[in-house]
Amino acid sequence: MSANSGTVVNERKKKEPVFPGSISGAMQRSPADKPPFTLGDIKKAIPPHCFQRSVIKSFSYLVHDLVIAAVLLYFALVGIPALPAGMLRYIAWPLYWAAQGSVLTGVWVIGHECGHHAFSDYLLLDNIVGFILHSALLTPFFSWKYSHRRHHANTGSMENDEVYVAKEKSALPWYTPYVFGNPVGRLVYIILQLTLAWPLYLAFNLSGQPYPRFTCHYDPYSPLYNDNERIQVIISDVGILAVLFTLYKFTSSYGFWLVVRVYGVPVLIVSALFVLITYLHHTHLALPHYDSREWDWLRGALATMDRDYGILNRILHNVTDTHVLHHIFPNMPHYHAMEATKAMRPVLGDYYTPHQSSRQLSVRPRSASTLSRGATRASTGTTTSFSYKEEIK
Ligand SMILES: [Zn+2]
Ligand SMILES: [Zn+2]
Repeated sequence: MSANSGTVVNERKKKEPVFPGSISGAMQRSPADKPPFTLGDIKKAIPPHCFQRSVIKSFSYLVHDLVIAAVLLYFALVGIPALPAGMLRYIAWPLYWAAQGSVLTGVWVIGHECGHHAFSDYLLLDNIVGFILHSALLTPFFSWKYSHRRHHANTGSMENDEVYVAKEKSALPWYTPYVFGNPVGRLVYIILQLTLAWPLYLAFNLSGQPYPRFTCHYDPYSPLYNDNERIQVIISDVGILAVLFTLYKFTSSYGFWLVVRVYGVPVLIVSALFVLITYLHHTHLALPHYDSREWDWLRGALATMDRDYGILNRILHNVTDTHVLHHIFPNMPHYHAMEATKAMRPVLGDYYTPHQSSRQLSVRPRSASTLSRGATRASTGTTTSFSYKEEIK
């Protein structure tokens, strides 16, 4: 490193804002100025085969997940009842829920991939597979596919993103400091978020981008959809109703609580897991949120964060630790995402934001040019569009 860049480092150390609560005690904000690279530059750095979708490979992951889910189901229906009554069964059920919930979240991730046309080269096949998988897990496939696309088209935009839009301090309700200012309030909020946020978002657009009138994912005339999409919203509703009817039949034959234990709890875990994962992809002190004066698609796509969930990374098909890439190339299959993330990181430099505890991908040393940019930004204070949840305290 040259003497000159060392000076820049020292200057940056002096001027970078320090955030409380971070692992190291100081946290660097992700760059918010216009990136010095283009989408084409990122694409060029990624091996071309990463963009290829293989029907056989995609199905192999799906079959793998379904076989494990079937084995776990067999364990729940046959193995657990065969255990001696008492303590062992009380331990076996939570183990089943955790394992089945995680595996089915992997299946849900493949459904999400179908919604991005990343499963195969055949749109009809992707739609059929995605519709079956998501309906089975009580997600309205086409309805969410379209609102999720808007999230991808407007990521990080304070005005137009669909979900996880940071609020301006002035827009926070009066009770905010009382809820988030103590550990009990935060715990209750997290529990409610993990259990109710997904169904309430689908049904009432809770925490979604505000629309002029009532917005619901099950309503074909919701302002979320255009005329071409309405019929597919109805098809999604039919899929959900068919699964609900099947569950009703199962409860009539086998009992309500068995269906809750075998299917209900794992599906609750699926929704809790992906709410947790997607919320944390878009929520961090280091991540910028832009208003319309500064937002552009690439900056928004870069304003996401990869995180390390250990063994879950693999079970969830790396949706956890390749989300930045997913926002840049949403139709790339998950089985190329790790390779592509590694390949694009040298181009992104400081614009790639892994969580600080991420150990899976090696960190590239900062270049003098990006350090210089950061120092200039910090010294001129052009970070007016940042909105940090920490500021509510
Ligand atoms: Zn996202
Ligand atoms: Zn997506």
